[in-house]
Amino acid sequence: MSVEPPPASLRLRIDHAALAHNWQSLDRLSGAARTGAAVKADCYGLGVDECLPTLSDVGASSFFVAHWSEVEAVARYVPAGDIAVLHGPMTAQDVAYAKAIGAVPVINSIQQARRWTEAGGGRCHLMVDTGINRLGISPTQISDDAIKALDIDVLMSHLACADEDSQRNARQLAAFREVIGQIEHKSLSLANSAGIALGKDYAFELTRPGLSLYGGIARSELTDVIRQVAYPEAVIIQTRDLEAGDKVGYNAEFTASTDMRVGVVSLGYADGFLRSWGNVGGCSGSHLLHDDRHLTLLGKVSMDMVVVDLTNAPEVREGDWLSVPYSLPDAAQQSALSQYELLTVLGQRLR
Ligand SMILES: *Cc1c(COP(=O)(O)O)cnc(C)c1O
Repeated sequence: MSVEPPPASLRLRIDHAALAHNWQSLDRLSGAARTGAAVKADCYGLGVDECLPTLSDVGASSFFVAHWSEVEAVARYVPAGDIAVLHGPMTAQDVAYAKAIGAVPVINSIQQARRWTEAGGGRCHLMVDTGINRLGISPTQISDDAIKALDIDVLMSHLACADEDSQRNARQLAAFREVIGQIEHKSLSLANSAGIALGKDYAFELTRPGLSLYGGIARSELTDVIRQVAYPEAVIIQTRDLEAGDKVGYNAEFTASTDMRVGVVSLGYADGFLRSWGNVGGCSGSHLLHDDRHLTLLGKVSMDMVVVDLTNAPEVREGDWLSVPYSLPDAAQQSALSQYELLTVLGQRLR
């Protein structure tokens, strides 16, 4: 007889109301444009099964993944025809799969265009590279016969520096506008999350936010607009009483100045809770939350534990769940990781 492993003392809670709020806020900022959703990398680590029903309920109807292998999970919640695959058809097998499942390829090269047309063609999107030099045909290839033969739904491009005040944004916008008149298409799409914050000129007819749906602040304009979606939560696995003079954690960084009650929490840097967020060297302010009560971190972050002050929180007990106030922009600044990396790592560790 097999025995189920006990439940984890660590979890990631998804705030579905915040996810809905973020999509609606980005939709409002997108003006008249429809608002899609980038759901690649398992919804940036937070889970397709967690996020897709909410995004679909709130009104999103264009979804973007990177790989063909990501289509099936998303297609459990929305019609396959609403899912676009950004890498496009790289092999004959990709084309056969696209035809069978009905997801829409984003064509990125003359070769992909030919591959798609030779297999019978049909509705597709076209990516034009306007300066990021990643995927996409160059503007000079727009009049190639292989491109002209396509049945293009969304003509799109992707901004390289939308999260910066860079002249490259206006330059890419101008380059995109120049190709628009040269090829038949049904609609236009340029902006990711940061691009939406650049204003209406960038919205066209369909926007493609990812990061900011999931709580990332792609540009400072979004600071008061976007809400935290992913809440790491961990259990207090032991409480202890300290006497004045007792030390806490590795290298005895924290010293109790009076008698204290503390809690040991099942969360550490192996879970993505970075050591730089510990409360050492007099840098105070780091805390965990029990409902709305702030519990200050004491001493260094260990691999799988941190210690919090419970002296003024007698109601907090062993077995209680604490949540981590996780500001992605602050964490990114402190860790030299991007908000994208932090989100996807968080999801992988805690889910
Ligand atoms: C990932 C991606 C997006 C979403 O970008 P965010 O910066 O996460 O909003 C949009 N379009 C394309 C082509 C992408 O690859």
